Amino acid sequence: MNSTVILGAGLIGVSTAYYLSEHQIPSTIHLVDPSPELFSSASGFAGGFLAKDWFAPSSASLGALSFDEHRKLAEQNDGRAKWGYTRSSTFSHSHVPGTLEGGRGDDWLRTGQSRAQAVTAVAVESGDGNRPPWLRRVDGDDVQLISEEGTTGLVSVFLHPKRDPLRLCQFLLQACLDRGVRLHHPAKAISIRTDARRELGSIRIAETTSSTETDLPCTHLLIAAGAWSPRVFAELFRHSSIRLPISSLAGHSLVFRPPLVSRDGGRQGDGQQPKESGDAEAVSYAVYSTTRDGWSPELYSRLDGSIYIAGINSATEPLPPLPSDAVIDAEKIKRLKETAAQMVFFDQEGNESDLEVVREGHCFRPISDTGVPVIARIADADLGIGVRTRPGAEGGVYVAAGHGPWGITLSLGTGKVMAEMVQGRPRSADVSGLGLS
Ligand SMILES: Cc1cc2nc3c(=O)[nH]c(=O)nc-3n(C[C@H](O)[C@H](O)[C@H](O)COP(=O)(O)OP(=O)(O)OC[C@H]3O[C@@H](n4cnc5c(N)ncnc54)[C@H](O)[C@@H]3O)c2cc1C
Repeated sequence: MNSTVILGAGLIGVSTAYYLSEHQIPSTIHLVDPSPELFSSASGFAGGFLAKDWFAPSSASLGALSFDEHRKLAEQNDGRAKWGYTRSSTFSHSHVPGTLEGGRGDDWLRTGQSRAQAVTAVAVESGDGNRPPWLRRVDGDDVQLISEEGTTGLVSVFLHPKRDPLRLCQFLLQACLDRGVRLHHPAKAISIRTDARRELGSIRIAETTSSTETDLPCTHLLIAAGAWSPRVFAELFRHSSIRLPISSLAGHSLVFRPPLVSRDGGRQGDGQQPKESGDAEAVSYAVYSTTRDGWSPELYSRLDGSIYIAGINSATEPLPPLPSDAVIDAEKIKRLKETAAQMVFFDQEGNESDLEVVREGHCFRPISDTGVPVIARIADADLGIGVRTRPGAEGGVYVAAGHGPWGITLSLGTGKVMAEMVQGRPRSADVSGLGLS
């Protein structure tokens, strides 16, 4: 019987388990993750912005599929209430007027620019127009609407006092567990085993809190361990001469509540509701800014009135052994707070000490050498001497990682297509440009 082991229970691994379990006996699907706390990685600390068509040509088909899967999943499962799925109006904001280049892809991330560089503006705002009610107006700043109706959305909600468990991740994981998918956590794969035909047949996992080791049947192995994917591959396939072309880009983030906004999203004291709160048709706001000192904060407002800010990134920070080992840098959080206080409307002059901090975050995006994710089967010849897998849809070692700044958006499409690939079914999106070169 086919049995699939997924290494990594971030959003990519969990999405794949979800779609696999629609066509496979769920108890033959195993999720393995060593982190003591699930979703303490990029999937749990991301902004949750979704776009339909902001992608490089090779991932455009996957992007369109994924955006549609997010909409369907939310419609079928009350995603607005369960994980805060909502439409967003998206703006670029700059103190230095300039032209958006409309480059698409993730070049903006590599050069430290704003995500807004991926698209061209659809309207230049004049006056206060539809600008987010919380965005402070400063003389000379430039605000442009960059989303067209129905092409962007937001999926995460920040209510937890310490950090935001990304509720989409939790919903999908719970759905998998309810169907009978097996979760091994905290646990780590330590070696692969071949069967009598010398083909991949099982994988040995070790619980990280005890000395217990277990062999899981494994005809199909999926590496979906985000930035840790190259390490996982190298540890299990020691004789392989290839390296998975993925590295990490660390990012700090902060969720805060402006001083005058209460927990239900209304203004404290005067009972006034911001216009996005309490209305079923209401939207959230995404703002991609460029500051005078040349960095690119991203801000997302939530229906509960809290605001997420990120954009301080570093490619030189070493990847820790586990996501939960990431240490918050107080200086970087201070810089996020200062920027928030400059950009967000306060009744008095902004003062970062007035911000109510909901949570702080530090995590590692998996970024690929090509700037688009790797979604592919690894050829047997690249697994190293002595390792083969069953032919065709009967087996294989696969990788789904390197989603960079787009892993939340592309998660559901990736899960669906990867499940189709593993199960030998026709693919719902063209991922032929996302292979291992
Ligand atoms: C600050 C920030 C903001 C972002 N905002 C957005 C956004 O608005 N929209 C968007 O689309 N994307 C966004 N992203 C990108 C997105 O978060 C990532 O692309 C996505 O979460 C990657 O998911 P993943 O499952 O591949 O990796 P991860 O979420 O990192 O999960 C990897 C998992 O692998 C596990 N693992 C580690 N070692 C092993 C091992 N040995 N064996 C098995 N498992 C292992 C980890 O414990 C973890 O659970 C953002 C990222 C950052 C950092």
